[in-house]
Amino acid sequence: MGLGRTRSVGVRGVEGFLVEVESDVASGLPAFTVSGRADAACAQAPDRVRAAAANSQHPIPARRITVNLSPASVLKVGSGFDLAIVVATLVAAREIPTGVVEDVVHIGELGLDGSVRPVRGLVPMVVAAAKAGVRHVVVPVANAREARLVAGVQVHPVARLDELVARYRALAKRRPVLEVPEPDAALVPDRPPPDLADVVGQTEGRLAVEIAAAGAHHLYLVGPPGAGKSMLAERLPGLLPELDDQQAMEVTAISSILGTLTSFDGLCRRPPFVAPHHGASMPAIIGGGSGLVLPGAVTQAHHGVLFLDEAPEFRPGVMQALRQPIESGHVVVARAIGNVRFPCEFQLVLAANPCPCGMGSGKAAACSCSPIQQRRYSGRLSGPILDRIDIQVHVPAPSRAALLGEPGESTEVVRARVEAARGTQRERWSGRPYAVNGRVPGPVLRSEAFRLGSGRTADLDRAVDRGLLSLRGYDRCLRLAWTIADLAGRISPSRDDVGLALSLRHQPALAA
Ligand SMILES: [Zn+2]
Repeated sequence: MGLGRTRSVGVRGVEGFLVEVESDVASGLPAFTVSGRADAACAQAPDRVRAAAANSQHPIPARRITVNLSPASVLKVGSGFDLAIVVATLVAAREIPTGVVEDVVHIGELGLDGSVRPVRGLVPMVVAAAKAGVRHVVVPVANAREARLVAGVQVHPVARLDELVARYRALAKRRPVLEVPEPDAALVPDRPPPDLADVVGQTEGRLAVEIAAAGAHHLYLVGPPGAGKSMLAERLPGLLPELDDQQAMEVTAISSILGTLTSFDGLCRRPPFVAPHHGASMPAIIGGGSGLVLPGAVTQAHHGVLFLDEAPEFRPGVMQALRQPIESGHVVVARAIGNVRFPCEFQLVLAANPCPCGMGSGKAAACSCSPIQQRRYSGRLSGPILDRIDIQVHVPAPSRAALLGEPGESTEVVRARVEAARGTQRERWSGRPYAVNGRVPGPVLRSEAFRLGSGRTADLDRAVDRGLLSLRGYDRCLRLAWTIADLAGRISPSRDDVGLALSLRHQPALAA
């Protein structure tokens, strides 16, 4: 009978890729096969396509039908190619006029009743289509708002297959095309981030969070249960600047793949906050799963904050696996089908009790742990991870006086200082591959251009001489001192700034 062609989009990692869909309807024994590296769900498309087409009064002819998806080198995962496959096949069967669908991208799963069902990952898919110069994208009606987050492409929502066929027939005859009414998606309003003013007392903890936000330093909070470690960590994203266009698009694409987008008013502009449970599996943290490889917590926290509460309770393998993402800003998930790479530039916040019973600091008499238990607990966090963490502070249980005291500064006030400090850093490090103090390599800060002079680093030098501070520790203090100076609006760190930096990274009770 003939050949039909159209296009679709697949997802690999957090990137979409264009797929050419070709359907050949020939005489011969009835058969319907999909070739071109399709996974199980994709290879089952013929069953769904046949039923959906029959129930839409456009049955697929009982011929030999061969569908080819290219490029053949990339695995096509899931049921999102159904709509393109049925459209190409109906063109080959002369049910849809030729010449109107070749350059259109079709995305959607078919229900057996002929409905067009939503799929995950619309944002990266439509981004890929737009980048390839595609002008028209047909998407499931339930995905329309998500698809429209991407600029530069005309989005055509469709609810049922028969209605799509009717629109293409009308289009070929140049009759006005029926537009599909879209359901009002229930909008979940963005909750405002929790405010720093809610944190009572915790002078050092609040300062640590502000400095962490200003310089993008990783943070480690140690204190007894109920001291407010989680409260502090949850308030870090609110102190961070809004995401720029590129970052917002990346974060929105990741949410789209995970199916967690709740607001379609625009791109995700606030840095995400992700707090996996300590029992979480390796795929949940790093990424994985069967079928479509889904991003893990590290990628959900891309351009935001990854908070690991009760960090020593995480599986040792999981903590070790964090090393590469922290260093490189991406993670590679190894799969039989080939490696999948996800971005994950996150700010890490660890929290821990001082010992297994949680009472090991302050009134140490209350601690019931044996020295062996304490040592084993503190040894669970590996040196290479702790080496990357610039700020390590103790968060004591708030005193009664603090509870009755004045509320501290609000998120809004502190964020203004953070944004000013970020601006200073962008200027200082312009032309370099980093824009925040937290990512500056130590040798740069010890180089002639940024050396502080022995008058200002005397405390640090003494700590090194006494063996209390490693060279890495020295560099971390320098990074912090620069952020402290930036927050205060000083051109370079004073001796007091260096002293404060040193106090913000004393190894707390945990490693004692
Ligand atoms: Zn204890």
